[in-house]
Amino acid sequence: MSPHMTPEEFRRHGKQVIDWIADYLAGIESHPVVSQVKPGEIRRALPSRPPEHGEPFEAVLSDLGRILLPGITHWQHPGFFAYFPSNASGPAILGDLLSSGLGVQGMLWVTSPACTELETVVVDWLAGLLGLPDHFRTDGAGGGVIQDSASSACLVALLAALHRAGDGQVTSDGITRRYTMYVSSQTHSSLERAARIAGLGAQGVRVVDVDPRTLAMDPSHLRTLLDRDRAAGAVPAMVCATVGTTSTTAIDPVPAIGEVCAERGVWLHVDAAYAGVAAICPEFRRLNDGVGEYADSYVTNPHKWLLTNFDCTVLWTADRAPLLAALSTLPEYLRNTATTTGSVIDYRDWQVPLGRRFRALKLWSVIRWYGAEGLRAHIRKGVALAQDLASWISADPGFELHEPHPLGLVCFRPRWPGLTAAEADRATLRLMELLNASGSMYVTHTRIGDRVVLRMAVGAAMTERRHVEQAWEHIRWEHAALSGTLPAED
Ligand code: PLP
Repeated sequence: MSPHMTPEEFRRHGKQVIDWIADYLAGIESHPVVSQVKPGEIRRALPSRPPEHGEPFEAVLSDLGRILLPGITHWQHPGFFAYFPSNASGPAILGDLLSSGLGVQGMLWVTSPACTELETVVVDWLAGLLGLPDHFRTDGAGGGVIQDSASSACLVALLAALHRAGDGQVTSDGITRRYTMYVSSQTHSSLERAARIAGLGAQGVRVVDVDPRTLAMDPSHLRTLLDRDRAAGAVPAMVCATVGTTSTTAIDPVPAIGEVCAERGVWLHVDAAYAGVAAICPEFRRLNDGVGEYADSYVTNPHKWLLTNFDCTVLWTADRAPLLAALSTLPEYLRNTATTTGSVIDYRDWQVPLGRRFRALKLWSVIRWYGAEGLRAHIRKGVALAQDLASWISADPGFELHEPHPLGLVCFRPRWPGLTAAEADRATLRLMELLNASGSMYVTHTRIGDRVVLRMAVGAAMTERRHVEQAWEHIRWEHAALSGTLPAED
């Protein structure tokens, strides 16, 4: 007898799975947002050996609910305010399921023309929706590609930048010169990892100063570092400007940074992993300032705030030639007529892995289901709730609000009168632990200057005004309770 699931069995279990997900999402508020399990608890509850004989699918679903669910942190919970949102949505889940159902591996155009061509259409659609420049479109010099993460995308951008800076020799000879890359203290850590992976090493990464108030990169310090390195014989390969930093959503001055890069012929990568999708709203288009004039590559993550289940990052480049030159290879076993005639796109040349999932299906499903106006409404709701939250914090003398807070992230610090800075930081972290242990919300922290601050990112699809109000009341209450129990400085 065949061990495979028959189409009829698949239909039956598939319906169970869809029901399971629908029930899960409908009842998500009954779970604690942050998983409360201890390290190793889930692993110990699972058998240490795989089954010799197949089991009914119901057993998998039953263990999912019984064993795994307590070990899930519920990113779609309306009380999830940690990190940045990682939105899921019905159309994205279904689009991903369809991708799994087709089981396509779209490394080459020929391995599924629709996988490639839908991706081209969808990334061009998104470029249009976000108001990105025409030369990022596939019918221009550049083009977009879906990647698994912004981390991979910045590595790919760096490889293209190195190729260009090294006059094409990096691909043939490897890193033979001292290449440098420029970030700020606020740049995402994936850039440093990209430098390590690409062989620049941490030594090759220069950290540009930031404005101490806005935390935005200082273009004049960038200019100084670039000129100093060049004079010392290094080859500046890439500058990364961030639009919406991870810590506080600081916005680097892309036009001024771009001018410096253009004067010196250095690749400008713009990391808008979180914030970029907000440009779908005309009132946030200014997030793209300088991108059309100066950016060589640009990345944003629909898998953060644009209702598209992880993973879905889009990387655009203004000129695909250095990217393809940096990454293309053509072993005999991949040779085919469409590729060799150059009449098609093979997206495997635009990324690190060879294989690729049919991710365009979920982004296509999302854009078609919501339409541009539905996507705009989602972004606007998150921003409006975050701005309300900021106004409540600012009006409360027990708290200090970090400015600016242009989008859905609000950073703030509880005041702890009488405590030293170090004690106050510990108290803030203790407050965060208590809030997160309550099960009703999840917030994270960062440091601004040398002080601990709480970060509350509003933008989960199910978060309504009442959830933000409840979270704020909870924070105030817990802060008051903790203040009463803390020893005052003597
Ligand atoms: N860049 C920025 C500004 C981010 O905020 C993040 C993640 O939060 C990343 C890059 C990394 O994103 P990914 O998880 O897609 O690699």
